[in-house]
Amino acid sequence: MTISDFALIDRAVAEAAEARPIWAQSGATVRSQLLRGLADVLEANADELIGLADRETGLGEARLKGEIARTAYQLRGFASEVDAGVPFRRIDDAAVEGLPPAGRPRLTRVRVPLGPVAMFSASNFPFAFSVLGGDTASALAAGCPVVVKAHSGHPQLSRAVFDLARGVIARQQLPAGVLTMVESASRAGGGHLVQHPDIAAVAFTGSYQGGKALWKLANERRHPIPFFGELGSVNPLVALPNALAKDPDGLAKALAGSITLGCGQFCTSPGVIVLLDDPASDRFVASLGTALKPIQTHRMLTDGIRSGFEKAAAAIARANDVQALFEPAVDGAGPAPQLFQVSAERFIADERLRDEMFGPAAIVVRARSLNEATEALAAIGGTLTATLWGVEEPNEANRALVRVAETIAGRVLFAGVPTGVAVTHAQHHGGPWPASTAPSTTSVGYAALERFLRPVALQDAPAWVLEGKQG
Ligand code: NAP
Repeated sequence: MTISDFALIDRAVAEAAEARPIWAQSGATVRSQLLRGLADVLEANADELIGLADRETGLGEARLKGEIARTAYQLRGFASEVDAGVPFRRIDDAAVEGLPPAGRPRLTRVRVPLGPVAMFSASNFPFAFSVLGGDTASALAAGCPVVVKAHSGHPQLSRAVFDLARGVIARQQLPAGVLTMVESASRAGGGHLVQHPDIAAVAFTGSYQGGKALWKLANERRHPIPFFGELGSVNPLVALPNALAKDPDGLAKALAGSITLGCGQFCTSPGVIVLLDDPASDRFVASLGTALKPIQTHRMLTDGIRSGFEKAAAAIARANDVQALFEPAVDGAGPAPQLFQVSAERFIADERLRDEMFGPAAIVVRARSLNEATEALAAIGGTLTATLWGVEEPNEANRALVRVAETIAGRVLFAGVPTGVAVTHAQHHGGPWPASTAPSTTSVGYAALERFLRPVALQDAPAWVLEGKQG
């Protein structure tokens, strides 16, 4: 990191700090117009951007086309939230005469934008969680300027999207500091950004090691700031025999597709499959192996991610009492899928078996009883999703399983596979550490904008103060 790199970061943050009061006070029309303008410019330049993204990430045209559509949908969705007045909502308690506790002053609870947000783009969503992705859209909707830390896995795409965004901001005559971007040549740059006194919050999606290092830096500041980080998830799936017996091949095919989707580089990729010792489970495991083994994956996002996957899979393969369920086929453009198996007893005893393998691999955990399956699920601790197949009966064992799933996960699925996260009001994409460093918040869905607003109670405020808080 050179002094001039730090100077560039300082300049970007200074611009954001200058835009802070203007953007915080902007009304609904100004904000939603910007969000819609950003969606339009992405779509208008989709062909060129998809070409760039494919060259840098290898994710393929079909997936990237879908991702641009999702990103534009997300930006427009947040524009609608702003138009509906969500960031400007307030709660009014009228004054009551008399002595407390019944008597009280007038109180109005409003929310104010936190200020400039440092947003670390994700490698695995070059549109939907990068320069104009969900974190940026939700922070802008909340009234916070955004300083993007571009991901080194797709630098040209980041620059192209940022240039388009800057054009929209200039045409709408908004301060340039509403959206700035930094590219750092070293890790020190990221740390400098997180510790910059004018940065008010951080949004991060990436590795456990990187996220934890930055989270620590955010907390070591003289004045620590909120750090909304997504650091990893193993996304367990518990499949009970009654569900598997119905359609073992269909379910195996769906699960194999989910494990290998995007070469397993989804934060919600299923990595742990908990099964009971039962003939229906044996049949399912055989089908899963048959479906998984021949799948050809595309190249991984970066060399670092590929070597990280190989190391993680090799560590699982080497662990005591772990069995590889098939010899992986020869690698193609991406690594060959892998499937391992271990007893629930070992899985519970050895925490290394619960580490994320970011790539096309999963581990089957075999439990001797529903009780043991529930314990294996509980051992996972924190995850974005938990999927339960076959808990339709309202009995005590199923209740315990659901209770544990709710304890460890931000989203519990009772059908289907965890990849694919809908952008809605009810969505929750988070969960206990390490799924999220702030488990009561979500990074996907419209509730994501709540992260960047801080409540203030105004007591006996004059009318002009309250009028200034309207959207
Ligand atoms: P990453 O290495 O954590 O990088 C994410 C961002 O943080 C990048 O901008 C990176 O800078 C920065 N960064 C990382 N460590 C830092 C540090 N110590 N100090 C300052 N800045 C730091 O994540 P990645 O490159 O996306 O992927 C690496 C691994 O992360 C994957 O193999 C996978 O295990 C995990 N991952 C998980 C998810 C998930 O959703 N669960 C998503 C993506 C990745 P540079 O751009 O300069 O590297």
